[in-house]
Amino acid sequence: MGQVSPTNSDGSKSVEQREGLAVKICYRCELPGHGIKACKIVLFCVVCGKDTHMVTKCVMHTQAKPISQLVGSAADGLQMFIAPVTKKATVESKDAMALVSVHFGEITAEQLVNAFNRMFQWGWAWSAKPFAPSSFLMRFPSVQKIDEINQFNDFCLVGERAEVMVSRWSPENLAQFKLTSVWVKVSGLPDSLLNYQGFCMAGSILGTVQEIDMITYRKMDVIRVRVGVMDHRKIPEWGPLTVDPFIYRIYFQLEQVVELGGPMISGLL
Ligand SMILES: [Zn+2]
Ligand SMILES: [Zn+2]
Repeated sequence: MGQVSPTNSDGSKSVEQREGLAVKICYRCELPGHGIKACKIVLFCVVCGKDTHMVTKCVMHTQAKPISQLVGSAADGLQMFIAPVTKKATVESKDAMALVSVHFGEITAEQLVNAFNRMFQWGWAWSAKPFAPSSFLMRFPSVQKIDEINQFNDFCLVGERAEVMVSRWSPENLAQFKLTSVWVKVSGLPDSLLNYQGFCMAGSILGTVQEIDMITYRKMDVIRVRVGVMDHRKIPEWGPLTVDPFIYRIYFQLEQVVELGGPMISGLL
C-alpha cells in the first residue's frame, strides 16, 4: 500500500509533506503560498469560459466531443445534419439593431448614412456596416423606431437613387434556409418503439422532431409527430428504421403543413 498524503484543512497540500519544505501549494491555482480558501487569484478557463478553474482542470477536454446528427434518412432530399442544441426561450431583443435591405439601386454605407442624416434628424449618430450583398446593419435609438420605419416597407432614400427596407435584425438573419414544419401520422412501429422516445426516433428519419402529440396517442392510439423537413413533398410513403437486428417499414402520412420554409436571404423567406 502506498503512503496516504495528508491534505491540510484549508484544501492545500504542504510541499513539506513531500520535500520537507513548509510551502503550501493552492489546489485551485497551483501557485505556492496559500490554500484554496485564501485564494484570490482571478481564474479564467478559455475552453468553457468559466472563472472557477484553470484550463488544465477543465472537464470539457475529457468529455466526448459532440457531433452533428444525420436525420432525414427516409428519402433523398430529406437528409441533413442537425446540431443537437436545445432551444432557449427566445428573448425579445432589446438591442435596436436593424437590417437595411436595398431592394432597388446601389448604395454604399456612406451614402446610406448621409441619406439617413437627411431624412431622420433625431439627433442620432447614424452608422452603417455592410452585412451581406445589398444589406447593411444600422443601430437605431430604439426597437420602436425600427418598427416605425418598417411600416413604410420599401422607401426611397432622399438624395440617392435607391429604395430600402428596414427590419429588426436577429441572429436568424444569418440563416440560409428554413425547414418546413409539418404534422405527420406515423405507423408501423414495433412495440419497442411505442413510446415518446420511439416516436422521436421514427420522426427523425424525416427531419427534426419538433413536437409529439402524446394526447392523441393516449386517447386514440394515433401517433402524430410534428417534424421540420427540407421538403415536405419528398416525404415518402414509408422509410426503413432498424431496431437491431430487424429493419422495419415506418409509414408516414402527411397531415398538415404548419409553416412553409425555404431558402432565406438576409433572414427573410
Ligand atoms: Zn490559489
Ligand atoms: Zn473550463
